[in-house]
Amino acid sequence: ERLSRDAQLRRVIDAVCACLEQAEPVLTDMDQKVGDGDLGISMARAAQGIREEIGNWPSEKDPAAVLRAMSSTVRRVVGGTSGPLYAIMLMRAAASLEQQGRADAAGWAAAFSEAVAGVMELGGAKAGDRTMVDALLPAAAAMQASLSSSADANAAVAAAATAAAEGASATAAMVPRRGRSSYIGQRALGHPDPGAHAAALWLASVRDTLKA
Ligand code: ADP
Ligand code: MG
Ligand code: MG
Repeated sequence: ERLSRDAQLRRVIDAVCACLEQAEPVLTDMDQKVGDGDLGISMARAAQGIREEIGNWPSEKDPAAVLRAMSSTVRRVVGGTSGPLYAIMLMRAAASLEQQGRADAAGWAAAFSEAVAGVMELGGAKAGDRTMVDALLPAAAAMQASLSSSADANAAVAAAATAAAEGASATAAMVPRRGRSSYIGQRALGHPDPGAHAAALWLASVRDTLKA
């Protein structure tokens, strides 16, 4: 059980990296419409950095250590706003797992909520400001809600992915209040927030990998 779970974390990370590398042109295009166009390259660089370094990381048996290592890679290789926000997300998730001393579905759900809180504290964005928070916050809430009614981990991750996709789509109707999109204001309407879309993409990839 333990062994297969360790291999599963590695499979999920690999899949998320592949997903973000594949999404590079889409994210570039989306960020060109409402920002400066660097989100695709930023996410792809994060993925490449993680792939290059994952083999050297402490232990697959210690998910908190793996998340911490991912955080420092992301902090080092990703520029722009996404770099520090994803770095804190991963760091807070690591700290939460460590503190809880468990990495079952409920542990991961709590870590995910803590991670999103970290993003909100660092970036100052609230729900409705049209950022990645509009995908991440409902996703974390949906994961917790799903686990409170059933212990099915895959169902909880699926609920999170669905909520993230819905949250990301909804950003198309939101006026940006944070980040570069806020410079273009109303002209962002009709286009979904690229950071929210990226979050929905990687969550879908986590779901698909766990299901497979
Ligand atoms: P930039 O090029 O503007 O520095 P990125 O292209 O790396 O930033 O990331 C853009 C995405 O970051 C946005 O689409 C949005 O989802 C997210 N974002 C921007 N500002 C914030 C913030 N203050 N809090 C949370 N997310 C933010
Ligand atoms: Mg950008
Ligand atoms: Mg930039």
